[in-house]
Amino acid sequence: MFERILIANRGEIACRVIDTAKRLGVRTVAVYSEADANARHVRLADEAYPIGPAPASDSYLRGDAIIEVARHAGAQAIHPGYGFLSENAGFAEACANADITFIGPPAEAIRLMGAKDQAKAIMADAGVPVVPGYHDENLDIKVLSSAARKVGYPVLVKAVAGGGGRGMRQVARELDFADAVASARREAKSAFGDDRVLIEKLITKPRHIEVQIFADIRGNNVHLFERDCSVQRRHQKVIEEAPAAKLSDEQRHSLGETATAAAKAIGYVGAGTVEFIADASGNYYFMEMNTRLQVEHGVTEMVTGVDLVEWQLRIAAGEPLPMSQEEISLNGHAIEARIYAEDPAAGFLPATGSLTHVRWPISPEASIPGQATALRVDTGVAAGDEVTPFYDAMIGKLMVWAPDRTSAVQRLSRALGETEIVGPTTNLALLGAIARHPSFVADDFDTGFIEQNADVLMPPAAPAQAVILAAGALYLLLDRGRRAAEVAAGTSDPSSPWVASNGWRLHDDAHETMTFLDGDNTVAIEIRARRSGITLTLPDGDVEVSGRLDSDGRLRAVVGGITINAGIVFQPDTRGGTLDVMIQELRHRVRLVDPLSVEDDSESEGGRLTAPMPGQVTQILAKDGVSVSRGTPLIVIEAMKMEHTIAAPADGQVERFIYAVGDWVDEGATLIDFVTPD
Ligand code: ADP
Repeated sequence: MFERILIANRGEIACRVIDTAKRLGVRTVAVYSEADANARHVRLADEAYPIGPAPASDSYLRGDAIIEVARHAGAQAIHPGYGFLSENAGFAEACANADITFIGPPAEAIRLMGAKDQAKAIMADAGVPVVPGYHDENLDIKVLSSAARKVGYPVLVKAVAGGGGRGMRQVARELDFADAVASARREAKSAFGDDRVLIEKLITKPRHIEVQIFADIRGNNVHLFERDCSVQRRHQKVIEEAPAAKLSDEQRHSLGETATAAAKAIGYVGAGTVEFIADASGNYYFMEMNTRLQVEHGVTEMVTGVDLVEWQLRIAAGEPLPMSQEEISLNGHAIEARIYAEDPAAGFLPATGSLTHVRWPISPEASIPGQATALRVDTGVAAGDEVTPFYDAMIGKLMVWAPDRTSAVQRLSRALGETEIVGPTTNLALLGAIARHPSFVADDFDTGFIEQNADVLMPPAAPAQAVILAAGALYLLLDRGRRAAEVAAGTSDPSSPWVASNGWRLHDDAHETMTFLDGDNTVAIEIRARRSGITLTLPDGDVEVSGRLDSDGRLRAVVGGITINAGIVFQPDTRGGTLDVMIQELRHRVRLVDPLSVEDDSESEGGRLTAPMPGQVTQILAKDGVSVSRGTPLIVIEAMKMEHTIAAPADGQVERFIYAVGDWVDEGATLIDFVTPD
């Protein structure tokens, strides 16, 4: 086994690899960009070295700098994680040239599987079923168009270099084909520096099923069963589970055999995933092979009891596969939910910002990879850390295990209710809604599930429920009492009336009004405190409340006879403050309006166009000085795997583009000086 390895990654996967390395007594070397100087992976590693500025191209993608650190630190091997350099054949070769073991497959296997067109051809030759389609070199739009016609609409345009659902467009009719190709190629160019595309028959009602495989350098191949990753948004996985509950034993066996055959066909070594798409009749077709550890590997670990990172290290160190196919068995059911900083209501726009409050149903430190434990959390951040625009916006992965799928789904739902994040907007509410949705519960859905059920899964913001308002108001009262008590404790007068910790002591029958802003609605709450208790008058009527703040800051209360345990985060500011109230799956943010504060002059955006999110300018679509009509696309910004086009808000003239292609912009930054005729 290695004595010291370098982890050429960041975030949760770097932490995950460090975890296993520590257990095996392997020392770990982390690398970090300027944005990550204090990141969790840096805190966990034995040693850490800076490798450059925040943008990945200047840091985590700099193979040369990383190999230099490995040499300097004496690391014998490099684990690339996923993303970044993990599927970069050149990097794998550079490692070999530097006499450092790349913990992954041979460069040749990465290369063969790296291009989807070539991978499909190899698999077809090896007898693996592939989706019908066109993957020729000629990308003339006329040729593509006639190929699409031959394949038959609906079709899917895919980036040859694709990954993460980028550069992918569904096309239902010929009329939309050319536009879809152009936009897929543009996205592919900016994402992968390669704008080649292929065309596939669009499989309707598909399920995404993938098989985890492993091979050692002695030519042994095994599979560790399958995962179902059909809950997706924009073709990206959100919830994954193992096994695929509806597969019959024969189907499972045949899928596993096919995947192992695929791995053998390319002389594979290490951990890999063979992805299939299954149609409604249970036929499955090869889509692609990922030559690395997947984000969702944890669910496989839970149902097989295998630590996949340990296997990766052992195999890279030249050891044989630790188990034979017969020794690998399935136990129970595991589900993973990916928690992202993103706004599902805004088309899953990535969100950034500081994580004010993070609470998991199990501490990440207590989570054990490679075992069938009820709960596991893998994360690269903690409260106080920042989600920056430079990298993937995943905050963490919540994994649950149970003896069967039904109990696993229940456990997932409960665990999501116990997960609290305040800071950037997250997809937590969406994940909770998925976990409770009858189609998900019944395992009866396809990859279009989220889009098809958007209205139920992502309902428009509703007014705060009474229990939220009541808990929020009670919290503020108790918090005020606590602060007063702290002040009193620091004074010499222990008999000060402020010492009373119920927050209410001056008069026997005190009375005040608290004002919240709930979206655009002002909600006034009348508060009456008597010796007998506190009564709140809410829009819906009166409610009796009592409770206390625990030492962990949580509110334990009885609201209208119902016992609650709420996570509440109050962030005061000059105008009052924001109040996040979280009671299981109920979550709501209101503003406390300070009656003494002055109203801000709300800033007018005038004729300016601003960045909706922090990101990088990838395209400028017009010239300074041109006149454009309303809706004309002007500039494209990309952040965290998402392209966002900003169009002219009205007929008018572009005075000046303030940024150039390649520049990084902050959220809210003015991008274009734009003038309208009046
Ligand atoms: P990427 O590498 O960008 O993640 P994949 O080829 O793995 O792209 O496909 C991602 C997802 O897109 C799949 O899980 C599936 O939901 C959908 N998809 C891919 N190919 C097809 C197809 N031919 N028909 C329907 N859906 C598809």
